[in-house]
Amino acid sequence: MASALSAFRVSISRISPFRAKHFSYPATSALAHSYRVLCSSSHSVSSSLSDTSPSSFSLMETNENQRWRPMCLYYTHGKCTKMDDPAHLEVFNHDCTKELPVTAADLERLKPQEFDFFLVLDLEGKVEILEFPVLIVDAKTMQVVDLFHRFVRPTKMSEQAINKYIEGKYGEVGVDRVWHDTAIPFKQVVDEFESWLAEHGLWGKETDGTLNDAAFITCGNWDIKTKIPEQCVVANINLPQYFMEWINLKDVYLNFYGREARGMVSMMKQCGIRLMGSHHLGIDDTKNITRVVQRMLADGAVLKLTARRSKSNVRNVEFLFKNRIK
Ligand SMILES: [Zn+2]
Repeated sequence: MASALSAFRVSISRISPFRAKHFSYPATSALAHSYRVLCSSSHSVSSSLSDTSPSSFSLMETNENQRWRPMCLYYTHGKCTKMDDPAHLEVFNHDCTKELPVTAADLERLKPQEFDFFLVLDLEGKVEILEFPVLIVDAKTMQVVDLFHRFVRPTKMSEQAINKYIEGKYGEVGVDRVWHDTAIPFKQVVDEFESWLAEHGLWGKETDGTLNDAAFITCGNWDIKTKIPEQCVVANINLPQYFMEWINLKDVYLNFYGREARGMVSMMKQCGIRLMGSHHLGIDDTKNITRVVQRMLADGAVLKLTARRSKSNVRNVEFLFKNRIK
């Protein structure tokens, strides 16, 4: 633990001078918060791993030796103006594909999957969606291929309510400023997301609107079952066809490991995976869920669809696993 603690202290001292300059993420308090979770996570490892067959999984060990850097959230929106500033590049990550490395040993127990790509999604926002992050994971290599990340400006809230909402939600993590600088309406997010999917060959307007050899993965059913349709109503757009089915990682986890995890943090604790970044910052949660996905793939899990909407009535959702988290 001592070495982990000193590593974090190094991170904090390097990052905090930038707090007032470009944008403040990560705030020292956010890192301190992460560190608290990290401690409790580490403590749980020895007790919770005993019922799992230990794999030769080296993914997180590799990562832990590297200094974790927060993603440049201007960059994810195509708005970073400091790509030629070495000090900025030293502090903020601009390439998500290298953050979750996979070694040859991680692939030894990988099973053939029904999909070529997984789209890991973890929304933020209760009243309306505030953040829409998606990571593409290649099912054959377990590598992260690309990241889509947008902050979302609510459609039906007053400016005053938005300001209060964002300060409460993102102020502590230090990303309220970048949120205000970059957030766009949900309808525009969906348009840009579809262009991004098309660039990767995962979706096209000429097809029936479903994904090509790809499936969404979420932690729970709330994101796609509940929140996306609600936000489509608020934004006055039709529910896209690619949100008709998805994989709830918690259900696959329950059936594969034979143990229940109520959420992302539980899964990570049980697997002995460290929480990186700020919990409840969507982009960091998405990466952390992706770490669990990579672990499960490395352990030999096959990630299958767990939920599908009825075509005649999209409000009706059929759950495809008998044993599932309720
Ligand atoms: Zn940048």
